[in-house]
Amino acid sequence: AHGGTILDVKNLQAWYGESHILHGMNFNVNAGEVVTLLGRNGAGKTTTLKSIMGMLGKRTGSVRFSDREIIRATSDEIARLGMALCPEERGIFASLDVRENLLLPPVVRPGGLTLDQIFELFPNLKERLKSQGTKLSGGEQQMLAIARILRTGASFLMLDEPTEGLAPVIIQQIGHTIARLKTEGFTILLVEQKFRFASTVADRYYVVEHGKVIDGFSNADLAANQDKLHTYLGV
Ligand code: ATP
Repeated sequence: AHGGTILDVKNLQAWYGESHILHGMNFNVNAGEVVTLLGRNGAGKTTTLKSIMGMLGKRTGSVRFSDREIIRATSDEIARLGMALCPEERGIFASLDVRENLLLPPVVRPGGLTLDQIFELFPNLKERLKSQGTKLSGGEQQMLAIARILRTGASFLMLDEPTEGLAPVIIQQIGHTIARLKTEGFTILLVEQKFRFASTVADRYYVVEHGKVIDGFSNADLAANQDKLHTYLGV
């Protein structure tokens, strides 16, 4: 069962310097959902996540999170409201070991997972606790990147292409992790190029093109929209 709207994005526009990248994004996420932003390379999906997280200098429109307007809030303020971004490049510190990486992001709210709860979700991280960031496989790095935001108390997770560059068996594990996080009550906004993967975890989808949402589907209307999806994504 999903709750009410937790994230409501209206006419979100954003710029990198002089480059106008987002041209009026409109979409929403309900509490407890997994929502996926689909779209080709360069459509503006990553920029959308960064803009929501307060990481782009110039942005206009409205982003309401937990009934608060955050379009002008700083990243720190947004993090303290319980939102976290797991970036595409993962951001694992090579010179730190797994434990140090896990403990790095500050706890921003009560309710974060304990290390024991994290190891229950990611048993191989426990085995690798003393391994340096550089020694981890891509899959382990991705798991660590997700694991450490769970410690912070964030309940709204934005995951930017968590499957990128990973082997099919690891992608499947990431899928199980996302499904598990959903049952634990987390809300997830996912950016994903792999439609087939997305369809194993998402409740709803938005298609992004040229910095705008051009369409939206729920799982129930997927079959009826195969042709459109093919046109949008080439899948
Ligand atoms: P991808 O899967 O390639 O990341 P995307 O949909 O996430 O695709 P974005 O990364 O949001 O796309 O990029 C949207 C547009 O913004 C692209 O045209 C890209 O070239 C541009 N862009 C991205 N980062 C920067 C930056 N730091 N400075 C200037 N332009 C940027």
